Amino acid sequence: MARILVTGGAGFIGSHLVELLLKQGHEVLCLDNYFTGSKENLLHLRDHPRLEMIRHDVVEPVMLEIDQIYHLACPASPVHYQYNPVKTIKTNVLGTLHMLGLAKRVKARILLASTSEIYGDPLEHPQREEYWGNVNCLGPRSCYDEGKRVAETLMMDYHRQNRVDIRIARIFNTYGPRMALNDGRVVSNFIVQALSGKEITIYGEGRQTRSFCYVSDLVDGLVRLMNCEEQTEPVNLGNPEEFTILELAHKVLALTKSASSPVFKPLPADDPVRRRPDISRAKEKLGWQPAVLLEEGLKATIPYFAEKLK
Ligand code: NAD
Ligand code: UDP
Repeated sequence: MARILVTGGAGFIGSHLVELLLKQGHEVLCLDNYFTGSKENLLHLRDHPRLEMIRHDVVEPVMLEIDQIYHLACPASPVHYQYNPVKTIKTNVLGTLHMLGLAKRVKARILLASTSEIYGDPLEHPQREEYWGNVNCLGPRSCYDEGKRVAETLMMDYHRQNRVDIRIARIFNTYGPRMALNDGRVVSNFIVQALSGKEITIYGEGRQTRSFCYVSDLVDGLVRLMNCEEQTEPVNLGNPEEFTILELAHKVLALTKSASSPVFKPLPADDPVRRRPDISRAKEKLGWQPAVLLEEGLKATIPYFAEKLK
């Protein structure tokens, strides 16, 4: 049994991770400022004897005794990370700095939830970890993309300079139950719109692609990465099946049996055209690959939103 800190543990991915770690018998400290996360995500575990909830903002330092840190704290949806871009940069840079300082002090292993966004609008396809990316440092997504790039740099520098034991997960688009109704990302938007009979908002012509990973696969990958020995280089975690946004819309409409119709809206600035992970490294080093097909994952997610909308 280990004492494990999960920052951002009340969020979408974080809450699934907390649940899995408790199931594995660990003691879990969930740290969150509840900006995009919610206590409701962990309500069913409220009285769990090995779970402790801490309200804290990672832009401030914190002192805790722990063996491992999963550092997930950061809004992930463009709508929320662009709401206060300066705060997003602080969260990524100061937050990661503080968690690395803590990891160094207590000799904990730390895993950073990085992102496929560090590849920007990629000129290489699919994206391998060796690719340096094509990122605009001045645009509306930069607070997040560049913030995560600095976070990765900090991880590597603390490793080289202070021998901190690090893991870097580059997470690709992930979806599932416990995404907030107002999350603003594509899967939750489409399901909520389809279920409530509203128009399905397709940005641009819907020909841009993404690869969608179901959350149970993703958290399994995070735990494998944390517990595998000697893996300081980043590892892509995502589902390599690629879909256009239009294809996703049609799948959601069919599965929800919705009569909603698509409406085309302007494409946001710097919206990446294509995205698909090369997961060879995760397969080789972690023995990991996603098991849940998009259709199955959507079927498991739709009832959650239906319940939320009641
Ligand atoms: P989320 O917004 O649901 O969760 C983020 C959590 O961090 C929330 O609980 C939020 O309240 C908390 N948080 C935000 N700022 C904080 C701060 N300053 N101090 C303390 N807590 C703070 O998003 P998610 O989808 O669960 O993403 C979790 C992590 O995974 C993020 O770091 C995100 O960048 C990364 N990631 C997610 C995806 C995805 O598709 N879901 C893709 C790539 C990377
Ligand atoms: N998108 C869309 N309609 C929506 C929300 C998003 O067409 O209601 C598009 C968006 O422009 C992008 C893709 O879906 O091309 C994925 O967007 P999301 O915000 O989920 O994640 P990210 O852009 O960070 O991959």
